[in-house]
Formats: sequence, structure tokens, C-alpha cells
Amino acid sequence: MKSKYEADKNGYYGQFGGAFIPELLFPNVKELEDNYLKIMESTSFKKEFTSLLKDYVGRPSPLYFAKRLSAKYGANIYLKREDLNHTGAHKINNTIGQILIAKHLGKKRIIAETGAGQHGVATATVCALMDLECVVFMGEIDIKRQAPNVARMKMLGATVVPATSGSKTLKDATNEAIRDWIGNSGDTYYLIGSVVGPHPYPDMVARLQAVISEEIKKQLQEHTGKSNPDTIIACVGGGSNAAGAFYHFLDDKDVELIAVEAAGLGVDSGESAATSVLGDVGVLHGSKTILMQDEYGQVIEPYSISAGLDYPGIGPLHAYLNESKRAKFMNATDQEALDAAYELTKIEGIIPALESAHALAVLKKIEFKENQVVVVNLSGRGDKDLETYIKYLNG
Ligand SMILES: *Cc1c(COP(=O)(O)O)cnc(C)c1O
Repeated sequence: MKSKYEADKNGYYGQFGGAFIPELLFPNVKELEDNYLKIMESTSFKKEFTSLLKDYVGRPSPLYFAKRLSAKYGANIYLKREDLNHTGAHKINNTIGQILIAKHLGKKRIIAETGAGQHGVATATVCALMDLECVVFMGEIDIKRQAPNVARMKMLGATVVPATSGSKTLKDATNEAIRDWIGNSGDTYYLIGSVVGPHPYPDMVARLQAVISEEIKKQLQEHTGKSNPDTIIACVGGGSNAAGAFYHFLDDKDVELIAVEAAGLGVDSGESAATSVLGDVGVLHGSKTILMQDEYGQVIEPYSISAGLDYPGIGPLHAYLNESKRAKFMNATDQEALDAAYELTKIEGIIPALESAHALAVLKKIEFKENQVVVVNLSGRGDKDLETYIKYLNG
């Protein structure tokens, strides 16, 4: 039986999802929709994907029993080490998968949009690997704010195109990418970085990231003799690392799923990215979901100290998990995330990405039963956030 947490044939999870796109994009999206599952189920795709995840990305990523963290919180806490992947986060699982799909479709040119530059770097990386042209759209302001990632993309051979309209940030870069895709439909593939966008992107990206929970099941079985944890915790920007960590547990009702959003300076401060609390139903990036919007349906600029969580919506799967209460949504402020990052570094010797630190920050807010088995998805490493961490240390 098909899971009720899987997208239906029109890409809906309950009332959320679908493909709200301009008519001119319809042929591109339809081509992908008609082919993605066939490609993903083909032997040649599976072989290439598995082999690159193993030898290029370094999978399986370890499931590490964090002994001192466990002692501190009175639970058995395991960290899924996506921070150890090539390029330092889970994003590479998705870009490897989609670049292979693009190649199967015969595409020659890859476009992407990026906010902080992490998805841009992951895309430029796989384009270099596959010798495909790469164009990354990025808001003019973000280009200034994220110089090291812009340099990485350029070194990897990508063209970085500034989006100069509107607020000159992520949503403007997205508009530019969509405009480009309309103009170059034949040879161009639009590589989206999270479980967002029109159907089939959310479903496709969730399936590509599902390798995370597939591995967790096996690794937990080895560690504990049981494949299911009591609780899984993951941070949510668009929701791809959480979707991957939850995927193979969605129908296992005994597994508690916790999604952690960025509260920024506080949920009610006006400077936040806690979409499940502050948002309501609307259309963002081609799908019906929940997003932060004003009374005219215009997107409200989110805020978080962590660039990867600074997104005004969540993917449609997460909107559904929230509405149906299958997942519990929590949040952590900038300060709580910083404290959690310092704590993990001091007691386990692991510097987490600021995004992942939000997931760690809720450990303090949960009352654990004795021996409760908890998996925290450590979505990325903290090297990219060092400047912020140093500022916090000195401040
Ligand atoms: C981009 C990013 C995120 C947020 O994206 P999701 O699609 O919600 O997973 C989380 N952690 C890290 C390290 C990231 O780079």
C-alpha cells in the first residue's frame, strides 16, 4: 500500500503540493514528471548513484553514539554524520541524484538558484564532476554577503549571475532562474536544492535524501538490535535533510519525528523564520504550502542567523506533517543554536553547522525517558560558520 505521506500522482500531500507554474514552464515540468521515477528505478541510475554516494560522497555516513551528550541529557543520543560528506553537508546527496537525472534526460546546461551559496556550491561541484555547464542565480546582496561560496562556485567553473531586482536575495534569484528556464527549455535542467518547488521536485528530492534514513535503520540495528529509534530530530529550512532523515520512518507511528525551525531573535520578534508558527497557506516557489506572507500574499523576508534556515516557507510534505501532527514542530533561537553548537564542540569535539545546531538546541527542551533512543541528524559541518562562531565567542 502506498504511504499517505507519499505525494499522490498530482504531487499532493493532503492539501499541500501540486505544481503552480506559468504555462510556459509546463512542458519542462511535465518532461521531468513523466520521467523521474522511471529513471530513478532504472538499474543504470541506481548503479551510478550508489557508486558515487559511496566513493565520491563517502557514504554511508557514520551513525555515532554521542556518549557525553547522552550522559548530559539522560537519553541515548546518536548523531547521523552528514557533516562528514564531501562538501560538508547533506546537499550533495540531492545534487548527485539530480545531475544523473539531468544526464539521463539529455540535458547539457544546469541552472540553480542559491541564497547563502551552499546549494550553489553543491550544484557547481557535480557540474564540474559531470562536465556540464552551470549557471547559478544569486541575489546581488547575497553575493556580497557570501563571498567565499561565490569564489568556490567560480573556481568550480560555474557562472554566477546576480539577481538585481526586488530585495536582491533568494526569491529574486528564484525568479531569475525560472525566467531562464522558460527561455531555455530544450537543453536546460533546473536543479532545486530542497523539498520545495513544483511537483515532482519535493517527491524527487525526498527520495534522493531518503538514503539518510535507509542508513539509519541499518546502523541502528547494528548498534542497538532495533532498527527504529524512539525519536528523530532534524532542522528544517526547506526541509530536505529532515525529509531524508524521516522518510523510512514516516509510516512507523512509534517513531516520534521532530522538525526544528529557526526562531531567529524570537518567534514574536519580527525577525524569525519559524514558518509553521508564523506562516499560513499560500503558494511559494510553485507549490501550495505554508509560508510567511503579508495580507496581500507577498512573501515576508525571514530572518535567522543560519543562512540555510533563512527561508520563508517549508516544503509541502512538511506542511502536511505539521498539519496532520505526524511531526512535532519546535524551534530554536539564534542564541540557543549558538549555545548548542558550543556545547557539542566542547563535549564531543564536533563543530556543527549553525543549521544543525538548531536541531541540537531542542535537546534541552525535551524530557527524555530513561534509555530513550534519539537520532539527531547532523546536517552539516561548521567550517562555513566559523566567522559567526568567532564573533559570538568575542561578543
Ligand atoms: C541548506 C542546509 C540546511 C537546510 O536545508 P534543508 O533543505 O531544510 O535540509 C540544513 N543544514 C545545512 C548544513 C544546510 O547546508
